Amino acid sequence: MNSELDLVKRQFGHRARLALSPAQIRAMDDQAHAARTMWNCLHAWWQMMPKEKRSVAAADAAIRQARKDIDFLAVLPAQGAQAVLKTYFQSWKNCWDGRAEEPNFKGRSRSVMSVDIPQGRDLQIKRVHRRWGMVNIPKIGRVRFRWTKDLPLGKQADSDNRITGARLVKDGLGWHIAFRITTLDHAPEPHSGPEVGIDMGVNIPMALSDGNHHDHGRLPRLPDGTCDRDKWLNPDEKAKLLRLEQRAAHRKTFRKPKEKTSRRLHRTYDQIRALRAKATRRSIDWQHKTTTTLAEQYSVIVVEDLHITNMTKSAKGTVENPGKNVKQKSGLNRSSLQEAWGRTLTMLTYKTARQGGALVKVPAPHTSQRCSACGFLAPGSRETQALFVCKNPDCGWTGNADHNGARNVLHLYRIGHVAIPAAGRAVVRRTRGVNPATAR
Ligand SMILES: [Zn+2]
Repeated sequence: MNSELDLVKRQFGHRARLALSPAQIRAMDDQAHAARTMWNCLHAWWQMMPKEKRSVAAADAAIRQARKDIDFLAVLPAQGAQAVLKTYFQSWKNCWDGRAEEPNFKGRSRSVMSVDIPQGRDLQIKRVHRRWGMVNIPKIGRVRFRWTKDLPLGKQADSDNRITGARLVKDGLGWHIAFRITTLDHAPEPHSGPEVGIDMGVNIPMALSDGNHHDHGRLPRLPDGTCDRDKWLNPDEKAKLLRLEQRAAHRKTFRKPKEKTSRRLHRTYDQIRALRAKATRRSIDWQHKTTTTLAEQYSVIVVEDLHITNMTKSAKGTVENPGKNVKQKSGLNRSSLQEAWGRTLTMLTYKTARQGGALVKVPAPHTSQRCSACGFLAPGSRETQALFVCKNPDCGWTGNADHNGARNVLHLYRIGHVAIPAAGRAVVRRTRGVNPATAR
């Protein structure tokens, strides 16, 4: 029997694709541009104001005035404008707490198009078909969305189980809605499975310490040894992407300075974006499936505490201190970014917690050079990308280099090497141009 004490509050998001008409898409785009402009105005206002006059109330008054004075800002619903204000202040808090960099202006091309609907009751969701639901979007109207998950609605909804809001986000495949859901679930039993160390690499995306590995079957490198940045696309799609990129480059040569981008070029850009979005969805799908399997199977998952942003930033170095092996490293970085370790770790964090397990990070320098059998550390032990040969004459252990790393990581956890439990909400570094508070 479960008492009330066994219940835990859970907050999560659910993303669904919206079916919008072309006119509605244009209206949504206008709202998103207005939201971005609102952010930029707010940022300009913040920088202009003396410190003692920067308050939420003053900013709120400025926003209200701006919505009255500027027509194209008024297309953004008042609630959406309030949400921009809230996320802007939150992003400063994130900066002051050391979780993120300072908020900045949002450029047209490098920021994600999004609009917030901060109140769940505005949505008035209804299921109309096995596969479709209807949702109310302020200033747009009733819109259909794909129903792929049962949402807490009607009789199932109460103060503990409900939709608290939503966010509309556009990617290469069009507009999506991300619902914010709060539920009260039964606390999981402690997980009784084995412990495992994971080494995340380029050749094998995930090598486990027990000799297993998870592979997505996509070759990381092209035949000439360079990293394959489009590995999630099949050969036909790759050929199409190449054709589109060549076409875009060709069309661009006809554009005179200060001339508007032609509709044809825009269309080509959209096609490229759609292909890239498809690749991203495939990689996310693989990550979800893999992390779910891992969280179900193992009680404790140990990973190396990598500072991904530092690692990828450092290749080029500075003018005074130029980096070494810039080309090789930046190739590694690109594929590291593509494997999206940060996202994998975020998924593992909440999935292990839901299964009663835990994700643990160990600070682990030299995991790839240390022998997991005897602990001997020598720079040349990793003979090739795949093969590890111990240089200790008494040991001579050989094995797969990635499994060696995974065994090292697990060993460090077992001897109690400063383990930082990664429980709770993970702090994730977002890509440039996406605000941490807005990117959920
Ligand atoms: Zn050894």
